[in-house]
Amino acid sequence: MTTINNAHQQAVGQVSVPPRLLLGPGPSNADPRVLQTMGMPTLSHLDPAFVPLMNDVQELLRYTWQTDNEYTIAVSGTGTAAMEAAVANLVEPGDVILVGVIGYFGERLVEMAVRYGADVRIIEKPWGDVFTLDELEAGLKAHNPAVLMLVHAETSTGALQPLAGVGDLCHAHNCLLLADSVTSLGAAPLFVDEWGIDAAYSCSQKGLSCPPGASPLTFSDRAMAKVNGRTHKVNSFYLDITLLAKYWLGAARGYHHTMSSNMIYALREGLRLVAEEGLEARWQRHQTNAELFWDGLAGIDLTCHVPDAANRIPSLTTVAVPDGVDAGAVAKRLLREYNIEVAGGFSKLAGKVWRVGLMGYNSRPENVVLLLQALERILHE
Ligand code: PLP
Repeated sequence: MTTINNAHQQAVGQVSVPPRLLLGPGPSNADPRVLQTMGMPTLSHLDPAFVPLMNDVQELLRYTWQTDNEYTIAVSGTGTAAMEAAVANLVEPGDVILVGVIGYFGERLVEMAVRYGADVRIIEKPWGDVFTLDELEAGLKAHNPAVLMLVHAETSTGALQPLAGVGDLCHAHNCLLLADSVTSLGAAPLFVDEWGIDAAYSCSQKGLSCPPGASPLTFSDRAMAKVNGRTHKVNSFYLDITLLAKYWLGAARGYHHTMSSNMIYALREGLRLVAEEGLEARWQRHQTNAELFWDGLAGIDLTCHVPDAANRIPSLTTVAVPDGVDAGAVAKRLLREYNIEVAGGFSKLAGKVWRVGLMGYNSRPENVVLLLQALERILHE
């Protein structure tokens, strides 16, 4: 018999984690109610006691996104999985796709659309800026795309792309609108149906106060008409919405993959918290705490990277790093000395900004005051 190799049989200790305050771009601290709920016993992905919980998630997602879309589900995986599901299903090889790039996540949409065989066209703005309706219309006229892809809350820059009216514009040009709402869902005003958004996706670990792992996705009837008219199969079995729908929709549910019931408990609880608070109050809470933070920044001689407050994401602020200050060193000290996590900028904004998230459970005044105090002390030394 082959002998067992015990070289890797290490006696590792029990997990012990520091009490971090996660004020970066995500994950944010999960609501304790979410953590408690996700510790309930695991159920099978097709257990008759589990299916109604999936239905609750769908209904509460429709509320949170302000949509009646039937095709509203949670994708296993992080925001990138839902992002890839949106792109994989809506892009057919050769489709002209227009991506409005205002930061890194727009670039990621470009990368994904290219991988799924699209003829990708790009319109761009400087990082921190957003498109006007006129600029988007000019892009639609110039490229005549099948889908316009935009990032609502561009986490790499802190800019919030206005979307009201964009769907109507797209539909007038026989084009679908895809919107990344990974950083805006549950934190900033978002009206999927009223704004004519045909495909949107998000994550669980930001405005919804859950750990990462199950990511919302919604498709309008218009989007589904494109999917159902495809001549090529979706190039991913795992992310094919028509296969996922057999598990998520209708009376007879069938196996597609083993969804994590514990992640669905978590998402359901996070969404239940949204519904209890109410969207209007929740959006206002994020805005109020963001403004408290922006005012406090001015008080310690720091400025926001996005100059116009109307274009700032209420749940994610990019703070300009003053000349001569080492952004990474400050972030390291915040973590080491105060257990506060914030993130630096990357790519075009590397070393130029800190990214500060006040999302979901963490959008509260005591966190704002604590971070401002810690920042002030570190910057003064
Ligand atoms: N899109 C945006 C705007 C994001 O901010 C992120 C992550 O921060 C993603 C997509 C990808 O999500 P995830 O990291 O959960 O896969």
